[in-house]
Amino acid sequence: MSRAAVALMMLAMATPAAAQVPLPPLKPLELRRAHHDVPLPPRRPPRPGEVAVEVSAPQAPVPRAPDAAVPPPQVAEPAPAPPSACRVALAEKAAFLPLPPITGPGECGIADPVRLVGLVLADWSRVTLDPPATLRCEMALAVVDWLREDVAATAAAMGTRLTAIENYDSYNCRGRNRVAGAKTSEHGKGNAVDIRALHLADGRRIEWTDPAVPKPPRESLKASACARFMTVLGPGSDGYHESHVHVDLAERRGGYRMCQWNVLDLTDLIPLPRPRPAEAPQPAPAAETEEEGPAPE
Ligand SMILES: [Zn+2]
Repeated sequence: MSRAAVALMMLAMATPAAAQVPLPPLKPLELRRAHHDVPLPPRRPPRPGEVAVEVSAPQAPVPRAPDAAVPPPQVAEPAPAPPSACRVALAEKAAFLPLPPITGPGECGIADPVRLVGLVLADWSRVTLDPPATLRCEMALAVVDWLREDVAATAAAMGTRLTAIENYDSYNCRGRNRVAGAKTSEHGKGNAVDIRALHLADGRRIEWTDPAVPKPPRESLKASACARFMTVLGPGSDGYHESHVHVDLAERRGGYRMCQWNVLDLTDLIPLPRPRPAEAPQPAPAAETEEEGPAPE
């Protein structure tokens, strides 16, 4: 056997038998599949100055647009709730921000709260609440009507015009008189406001509990407040309202109202000697001096 014949025979022995069987030619479809199965070489990083071209991955087939004759299903958006009748009425005479409901903690909260910023009087002049008051809408409406119709008239009787109200406290989740553990205050329901003073167009500031302020306008404010609100607390009521006046719309059994506001002026503060019983023995001059002072209440 020649060398070439031996080499040919060794090569035939080293090659798998299957490889020696001629394969049938691939059909076109099988050719395409074979092409897809071939892994792609890793992408060469771009050289400096070269712009990298991103080839996006095969995209999922885009669903065909629905037939024009069949309208796409509509997801119904919840329609915004219409404003309450109270807010509609308030918007006719006041400036306010509608607020989302306030819930808790505890008994506190307001279903229909507003932040009352100011109001417009019948002559279109403006009155501001300083700072704005957060109240339930019905309470805000009651306050606005009182300021427009009564407090503005009190200011007019003083020869000027109402311009602002000092709001000492409005919505505040707390116990009565800020006492921890006490029954929830009407302030915790947005149903009360504390007022300290009013401002007039001539520059005057009228503090409602100041005995130095003339009595008639403050008597007028008290009368109108007690006619409109269920509770009015001022100086002399419970010791917690010596520097402001509280008004609220608390609902009580039988519609019971509280109107407790001693409108004091300077003459009320002059100490008077305590009347003595007729049968009391005449005191010595020294003892009389010791007993001078305000009558205890
Ligand atoms: Zn109060």
